[in-house]
Amino acid sequence: MFDLNSLNPQQREAVTHNKGSLLLLAGAGSGKTRVITCRIAHLRQQGVPAEQILAVTFTNKAAREMAERVQEMIGRSSAKGMVIATFHSLCVRILKTHINRLGFKKNFSIYAAADQQRLVRDLLREIGAENGSSDADQVLWRISSAKNHLIFPDQYQPDGRDPISSLVATIYPRYQKSLKAFNAVDFDDLLMFTVQLLEQYPDLQKHYCERFQYQMVDEYQDTNPVQYRLLKLLAGGHSNLCVVGDDDQSIYAFRGADIANILDFEHDFPDTKVIKLEQNYRSTGNILAAANAVIKNNQKRKEKVLWTDSGAGAKIEYLLCEDGEDEARQVMEKIHAEKYRRNLNYGDFAILYRTNSQSRAFEEQLRYENIPYVLIGGQQFFDRKEIKDVVAYLKTIQNPADEVNLLRILNYPKRGIGESSIDRIIRYSSDKNISLWNVLQQVNQVPEMNDRTATACGSFVDLIQRYRKHFKQPLRLLETLQEFLIELKLAAEIYRQEKDPQVAKRRVENQEELLNSMSVYLERTPQPDLAGFLDRISLFDDENLGKNDKESKLKLDAVTLMSLHSSKGLEFPVVFLTGMEEGFLPHKKSIYETFDIDEERRLCYVGITRAKQQLFLLGAQQRRKYGKLEQREASRFLSEIPEDLLQKSTGEKPRSSNPDEEAASANSFFDNIGQMFGD
Ligand code: ATP
Ligand code: MG
Repeated sequence: MFDLNSLNPQQREAVTHNKGSLLLLAGAGSGKTRVITCRIAHLRQQGVPAEQILAVTFTNKAAREMAERVQEMIGRSSAKGMVIATFHSLCVRILKTHINRLGFKKNFSIYAAADQQRLVRDLLREIGAENGSSDADQVLWRISSAKNHLIFPDQYQPDGRDPISSLVATIYPRYQKSLKAFNAVDFDDLLMFTVQLLEQYPDLQKHYCERFQYQMVDEYQDTNPVQYRLLKLLAGGHSNLCVVGDDDQSIYAFRGADIANILDFEHDFPDTKVIKLEQNYRSTGNILAAANAVIKNNQKRKEKVLWTDSGAGAKIEYLLCEDGEDEARQVMEKIHAEKYRRNLNYGDFAILYRTNSQSRAFEEQLRYENIPYVLIGGQQFFDRKEIKDVVAYLKTIQNPADEVNLLRILNYPKRGIGESSIDRIIRYSSDKNISLWNVLQQVNQVPEMNDRTATACGSFVDLIQRYRKHFKQPLRLLETLQEFLIELKLAAEIYRQEKDPQVAKRRVENQEELLNSMSVYLERTPQPDLAGFLDRISLFDDENLGKNDKESKLKLDAVTLMSLHSSKGLEFPVVFLTGMEEGFLPHKKSIYETFDIDEERRLCYVGITRAKQQLFLLGAQQRRKYGKLEQREASRFLSEIPEDLLQKSTGEKPRSSNPDEEAASANSFFDNIGQMFGD
């Protein structure tokens, strides 16, 4: 049962504000999401029908959690009929009913990245413009950005300074025309078409305004222009729109999120009631003070004061590690120690990082120590397609009789062995009862095999045989793996297939992580060989979590691993914020993003404020890149945290028996951080 007395006065005011628009602007952990769930419960208790309630959040996980919380408060039957959804799922609902008005059939399909990619490549080829693997990616990236800004194909204006944009001006209309012919829409269309529908058909807009009398939006700071327009349309005249957000947690500018949406809200909805929350209920005083100290270095922000009455709590620990493997080991040590000391569960710990490829070392160590974990917003490292592809090659090289892996890579990357040829090879192999590998070695004997395919099979066999030889040299395993990846050109293939260049970059980085994994294996193993390396990887294959069983994963008592972006809105008793180094946080951005130090600082703020009781910051002095060690610099954000909140340790085995000396050496490194960045 829900009780208004469980809220502070400002929260209560927000929850009971029934009529007119409401902007709740408040810092992390101040109860914004809680206000939304309580407001939903309160509305129901006031007799508002469930069907009139709409709540929008950013991720499926957040939507699911919100729905669960509401059900706990008011019961399942009372919650039935309300819509708690992401922007995309809300739009799918609306389009499923009305998309025929835009000339589509209601059974339209939604194109995923690979489908979009294929379509754009075909179109580029049609106009004779495909002259590089990244063209399609770049065109798609710009089409997506146009759609996020509600720019339709006929409105698209090429930018003279950007050569790709004139290509986009040609392709975008054709792309949209083809999608329509296929009765398909892409992800961005879901939002754009819903806006178009509501704008073109006032009866529909009226229908949805009346249907959703009460609307709530969480994480409002990350809405982009098309989402903003949608909200305005749905709010219509009555505007019982309640948005909650924190400008300090805006972390999706690279996807078109516009912080101005917060600043413009009061202007666009003139009678807006603005409420601020200032008490933080999540974190200890030290954690909150660190978060405040970091974020105050951002120039453009609405000044907020956040306080807590929960006491200072433990100091924040900064662990300076030797390298990435040491960082993972130290996290495990702390998990064991804290779990035992404070009687915690694995589920109380979260390991956060800036880029998904950083998860590899932690995953390996967690598996090594048999600690259950869940990876949110990413696949388990060794389950990732790009990793499985390389591993399939290595397994084929090690054992060409392994036909599952052989078939996985026979025509990947594409080498001109088409599906019908593969069928013929398989048929011949079973008719004659010889292995596929043997058939490939004498492929000319297979009936109806054309010369081109036969040559392609020949080069494949040659590749595998050559590397069977190379990989037999134990001292050159790392170099051989590196040479092999270069020769395969998998990176180019990934960039060709992946629509989003950011995703492609990450997938290639993941493959590079495999080199690091090999180099750790070589260090730890007295007599290394390819078979040993594969055994080690295969052990990781042996999942202790139910595959694809997301629900059971969520219920498992497990350490959470995730990127800072996916950690938004969540909280954990103990948080490890890892990779506190220049290049990770702040991240060295790719060419598609303008380097925005303020956004990186907001990400750091999001990370710090996920912690309830204890926060560990970790960084390495050196890391492996392409299997080689590289020196790292400490993150500039560390120097923004006041010294008195921190307890620092190098994590090295004590060299001196004098603890003062050790503390002094740790401090002297730390003192240097400020100097490095001149503040
Ligand atoms: P974020 O900005 O990270 O999304 P938030 O502002 O949405 O944070 P919540 O997640 O709603 O904050 O709340 C943070 C924590 O504080 C939760 O554990 C919540 O239950 C608790 N909390 C919020 N308000 C109160 C209150 N009045 N009394 C006790 N606990 C509260
Ligand atoms: Mg929240």
